[in-house]
Amino acid sequence: AEETLILVKPDGVARNLTGEILRRIEAKGYQIADLRMVTPSRELLAEHYAEHEGKPFYEPLLEFMLSGRIVAVRASGNRVIEGFRSLAGTTDPTTAAPGTIRGDLGRDWGLAVQQNLVHGSDSTESAERELALWFA
Ligand code: ATP
Repeated sequence: AEETLILVKPDGVARNLTGEILRRIEAKGYQIADLRMVTPSRELLAEHYAEHEGKPFYEPLLEFMLSGRIVAVRASGNRVIEGFRSLAGTTDPTTAAPGTIRGDLGRDWGLAVQQNLVHGSDSTESAERELALWFA
């Protein structure tokens, strides 16, 4: 089956939402194929977010992602890449649709970076690249 990388970001772990987020992934019918708790290095995050280098939110994003532990999930299922992004909702938690992880649980703290609880790969290419990074 298709696989994707899902991250429960430091805000999700700190707010004790890991179980709730994993519950939603499983309730949708996706398999948790692998799971680890990670304290990532700056190097790993720089590779993960290489496409955003130079953007105004890049440094705040790295600082945020370095601020606590992250739960990395290898999830599998039919069309799981698209399906998880739909479960997650859009980037901004204020306007993410109710019913989604970000829409139901996300908070806007008014900071330079959106602390939006989760990450999900956005294509088969990024899924392959990101799974290799986080499950090396
Ligand atoms: P999505 O596009 O659904 O948010 P994503 O998490 O992969 O998925 P990216 O566009 O790749 O989002 O951005 C990575 C992360 O950077 C976002 O999840 C968010 O935490 C932060 N971010 C993105 N755009 C902004 C922005 N304009 N202002 C503040 N933070 C942002």
